[in-house]
Amino acid sequence: MAPGNPGVDPAVLNRLPTPISACSQCASLNVRAPEVRDGAIPSTALTFMVCLNCGNRGQPLLFNTAPEYAAFANDIVRVRRG
Ligand SMILES: [Zn+2]
Repeated sequence: MAPGNPGVDPAVLNRLPTPISACSQCASLNVRAPEVRDGAIPSTALTFMVCLNCGNRGQPLLFNTAPEYAAFANDIVRVRRG
């Protein structure tokens, strides 16, 4: 599985710290806090995340459990594949 793709491997999911932050557009776990160059203002509360996989900027989706995230990631994959 390539880095940045939705991680649906339970062995991986179960090692993730919760809540799990994921991109709302592509379900990637490869999201990070924004930097100044992304338009963030230092020392203020973070209001969005940047997805390193698809470039989406917005609120990350938070999942309290790995199965919840896995279900979402599987839905994303299914939709993208038609
Ligand atoms: Zn994304």
